[in-house]
Amino acid sequence: MNKPVRIAAGIQDLALTINGKAASGAAGYQVNDPATGAPFASAPDATEAQLNEAVAAAKAAFPAWAATPWAERRQMLLAFCDAVEADIETVGSLVAQEAGKPLAKGRAEVMGGLFFARGFAKLELPPEVLRDNADQLVRVERRPIGVVGSITAWNYPALLAMWKIAPALLTGNTLVLKPAPSTPFATLRLGEIGRNIFPKGVFNVLSGGDNLGRWMTAHPDIGKIAFTGSVATGKAIMAAAAPTLKRLTLELGGNDAAIVLNDFDIETQASDLFWAAFSNNGQVCACAKRIYVPEAIIDALAEKFAALAGSVKTGPWDMDGVEVGPLQNRKQFDRVSDLVAEAESYAAPFFKGKVPDGGFFHPITLFKDLPDECRLVCEEQFGPAIALLRYSDLESAIAKANDSPFGLGASVWGKNVDAAMQVAARLDAGNVFVNQHPSMGPEIPYGGVRQSGIGVECGVDGLAEYTNTVVLNVKRG
Ligand code: NAD
Repeated sequence: MNKPVRIAAGIQDLALTINGKAASGAAGYQVNDPATGAPFASAPDATEAQLNEAVAAAKAAFPAWAATPWAERRQMLLAFCDAVEADIETVGSLVAQEAGKPLAKGRAEVMGGLFFARGFAKLELPPEVLRDNADQLVRVERRPIGVVGSITAWNYPALLAMWKIAPALLTGNTLVLKPAPSTPFATLRLGEIGRNIFPKGVFNVLSGGDNLGRWMTAHPDIGKIAFTGSVATGKAIMAAAAPTLKRLTLELGGNDAAIVLNDFDIETQASDLFWAAFSNNGQVCACAKRIYVPEAIIDALAEKFAALAGSVKTGPWDMDGVEVGPLQNRKQFDRVSDLVAEAESYAAPFFKGKVPDGGFFHPITLFKDLPDECRLVCEEQFGPAIALLRYSDLESAIAKANDSPFGLGASVWGKNVDAAMQVAARLDAGNVFVNQHPSMGPEIPYGGVRQSGIGVECGVDGLAEYTNTVVLNVKRG
């Protein structure tokens, strides 16, 4: 086991935020440091009574918050963003340590979250007048839903939290936010910062186990669940939300295909493609998870990938120069290890990296030519292992790319952008990229098709998902 790394500042004192005040969990639960695999801090384990308290506070705060002008809500959101930025040292190091990513990337994640929140704050959902004549006025209004429950995953705790906080509050909803059990601290810190900015009850943060998510999805006073996580949990949430017919936004898993075309330039493009698969150690919802490569260049690309992989520096969050950390949790480490073991029963990897001992470190592992039924090819790995898959006929590569229950992202890579766009037009996913994977922005809607999700986040469409469409229909004269 690695020796414990430096503890991020303030981690021990972080509390729940309920009705604008700090609240301790009835009990604490141990959170593991991904770099050592050992518990490093305790987080409050919210009880069902505390959830009820938070929902009651959010419900009580809703009418006044919904009636607060959009511009004032936006000002408070921007003040919150400024306060988070002023706290970047703490929030950034909390993200880095709990998620197991290098410190610079933890800070960059927080800044990325702020970039999105500030970008959402530039968007608006004005009423739309459909008829306005002597006889009739018909106006479509976007009104907030009420109490929103947001549940996030562990790969980007701060970014995903900002993706939930900003649109929910901007549109006039109140919020109960739950981070993943293994990455509670940065989100708890965001709750602390919000206490001084938002009116009581508007923004509540509760950490705890999966049960807390179950209580939220069944709660009669929560009107919408905004969820980021796995397909299996998305299905469970949809079922649990049915009795109360909650509104849902589900951002789920993917098994994104990347199709490399014949004119792909290994010298200038291979590094971007490599990082499209390995950024955040492969723990990205929409990143390259299977790569289809023309027969003519697969060996040369494999050689280049091995060289790139060999130069990646892996280590704990607070070590200088580290580019990639461990996997975030034991379950994910075991899953990636299982998928790699199964893939090895088909073919030996052509590259396996070196990683520090202990913790949840998994070596970058590269395969070629695995069969379609190999689990590393047909399931989501969400980790640092991938297969380059040979094709001789572009039609078959397109068919295989589309042949998946997932449909989050897909990409096409080649020097001739027009030719790549023609292939992109035939890929069936919510986000289709050319010569990049992924690329997102606050004004760009983002969501999956098929089992990768329901609804979108970001952009005006993403904001609209936090509202009810209400039609005001007036007979005149
Ligand atoms: P997960 O589904 O196990 O957990 C996600 C969250 O759901 C956690 O907060 C967890 O406590 C909660 N939860 C678990 N069971 C629940 C239940 N029955 N009811 C309500 N809440 C419950 O997912 P994960 O392992 O944390 O995240 C990895 C997955 O998330 C991957 O599949 C990845 O692709 C996906 N993801 C998707 C996106 C996207 O935008 N599409 C972004 C990031 C991650």
